[in-house]
Amino acid sequence: MINLQKAEFVRSAAKREDFPRDGMPQVVFSGRSNVGKSSVINRLLNRKNFARVGNSPGKTTHINYFKIDGRLYLVDLPGYGYAKVSKAEKERWGRLIQSWFDDPSLMTLGVMIVDARHKPTADDCTMGTWFKQAGRPYAVVANKLDKLKKSEIEPNLQRIRETLELEDTVKVIPFSAEKGEGRQALLALISDQVGESVQ
Ligand code: GDP
Repeated sequence: MINLQKAEFVRSAAKREDFPRDGMPQVVFSGRSNVGKSSVINRLLNRKNFARVGNSPGKTTHINYFKIDGRLYLVDLPGYGYAKVSKAEKERWGRLIQSWFDDPSLMTLGVMIVDARHKPTADDCTMGTWFKQAGRPYAVVANKLDKLKKSEIEPNLQRIRETLELEDTVKVIPFSAEKGEGRQALLALISDQVGESVQ
């Protein structure tokens, strides 16, 4: 069993040479700024302020690595889609993500977070293409489920699937970082891919 209670921040990587390559499994989180990526990570770990909630622009060019129980990395890719980010910083983001996806073998499981309320944005679709092309297992987490009416859930999940052109094998997990819904489903998926129970 890999114990999520034992989580530590290990490093912030700004270039390829800083990416850990020690063979430990890596579960990789991405999402548009403000989608709730930090909140999803905190909810998984059952921590309040582990990954920082409400990151500001200027924090977009680092990949944060957290180590779980000394045996698993959670990799927090920098958020995208900030309105106020300069062109130069967007390009830096692009280069960093590109260099990360240059070596997809590092990725045990990708977790792409989108907003359950909305049709995925053009940036989300670009990110979706990165994951698809990586050829590694990935899932989509539809966060902020608590903001939907019951009747909106199914059509919204379907719209996410269609807009991102997901293959049937890719799961869409309805999730609420706020309420905790979806946590078990995501943990089950992570455990499956890592080949050991993560809890
Ligand atoms: P990040 O920029 O993607 O890391 O997003 P944050 O984790 O900082 O969250 C952005 C905002 O969305 C914060 O105000 C969170 O409280 C809120 N938020 C995150 N997840 C949820 C959720 O599942 N439901 C609701 N209602 N709000 C959420």
